[in-house]
Amino acid sequence: MNILVTGGLGYLGSHAVTQLSEEGNEIVVVDNLSNSSYEVLEKINRIIKKDINFFKTDIRNIEQIEQILNQYKINSVMHFAGLKSVRKSEIEKKEYFDVNVNGTRALVNVMEKNIKGDKYFVFSSSACVYGKPEYLPYDEKHPLSPENYYGETKLEVERYLKEIHQRQDKWNVAILRYFNPIGAHASYTIGESPIGNPENLMPNILNAASNEKILEIFGSDHETKDGTAVRDFIHVTDLIDGHKNALNFLINHPKDIFDIFNLGTGCGNSIFELIKAFENVNNKKVNFKFSEKRNGDLPIYFADAKKAKKLLKWEAKLSISEMCESSWEFYKNYK
Ligand code: NAD
Repeated sequence: MNILVTGGLGYLGSHAVTQLSEEGNEIVVVDNLSNSSYEVLEKINRIIKKDINFFKTDIRNIEQIEQILNQYKINSVMHFAGLKSVRKSEIEKKEYFDVNVNGTRALVNVMEKNIKGDKYFVFSSSACVYGKPEYLPYDEKHPLSPENYYGETKLEVERYLKEIHQRQDKWNVAILRYFNPIGAHASYTIGESPIGNPENLMPNILNAASNEKILEIFGSDHETKDGTAVRDFIHVTDLIDGHKNALNFLINHPKDIFDIFNLGTGCGNSIFELIKAFENVNNKKVNFKFSEKRNGDLPIYFADAKKAKKLLKWEAKLSISEMCESSWEFYKNYK
C-alpha cells in the first residue's frame, strides 16, 4: 500500500515510517524539517535498508502535495505534521492555528481534489482535547474542553474532519487521541530528538540523567498519591502499532467511517514513579527540583483504551521499564 506520512521525520512519524515500511508498504514522507533533520532520514534508511521517498516541503504547499499524491497514487495519509508545544501554543497562537488547523485543511482539500475513490486519513490528536476530567479514565465520550491553545487546535481539526466525512463521500477518518508517548525504536537509533530546548518530559529526564540539566518537576502538591502529576505513558512502538490497526480498520470497514480512539495503556503513573523506573532499569540517577505548577497542568489523567481494544484489536504491551530503557539507550547513541 502507498501511504503518505506527513511529519515523517519527527518523533512519532519516524517510527511510523519504519514500522509501516518494514511491513512492505511504500512510504512517502513530507516534512518541512522545522522540528527534525536529514539525520533522521539517514537513520530511517539504515533501519529499513532502502531509501525512503522524501520531500522537504510544507503541508501547506498545495502544488507539491498535489504532485506527490498523483505521482505515488496515494489514497492513505497518516498526518503527524504539526506543532506540539503546549507552552508555545499560548504565545504563538497564529502560527499554531496556521500549521495545525489551516495546514490540515489544506491537506484535506488537496486530497479531496486529487483522489477520486476512497480516502483514508489517520489524524494525530491528543488527550489535551478532554481538559479537566469530569471522570476518569477518560473515554472517547468524555466532554471536550481543552485547557490550552494547542488542545484547541487539535479539537478544531477533529471537528473539521468530522464535517468533511459528513459532507463528502468516500472519507474514512480515524482520530487517534494520544496520551504520553515515550520510548524509542528497538534499534535505539531513532527516538525523540527535538530541535532546541526539549519541552516534553522524557527528553528532560534524559538530560538530567546525563547531568546536563536538572529536571524541573512542575508541582509537588498535586492531589495524587505522591504529589507529582499522573499521566498515561505509552511506548512509541505500541502507539504506532495502533496506527497500523486504525488504518486497516478504515480500509476494511464496509462503508465510509469516522471514528475516534484513545491510544493509551489505561494505567496512570506519577512522574516520581516514572523517574524511579528509569533509575532502576538504567542504573542512573535523575536529579530534579520542584517548580511551581504551570497554568492548566492537570493533576491526573489516563485513558480508557477499551474501544481501541475492541474495534482496532489493539492494546499497549510494553512496560514503563521498557519505555525508560529504550529512551536511555537511544539517548546514549544520539549524544
Ligand atoms: P515532532 O515535532 O517530533 O514531529 C512533527 C514533525 O512535523 C516534525 O518533523 C516537523 O518538522 C514536521 N512539521 C511541522 N510542521 C510542519 C509543516 N507545516 N509541514 C510539514 N512538516 C511539518 O512531533 P511528534 O511528537 O512526532 O508529534 C507528531 C504529532 O502527534 C503532532 O501532530 C503532535 O501534535 C501529536 N501529538 C504528539 C504527542 C507527543 O507527546 N509527542 C502527544 C499527542 C499528540
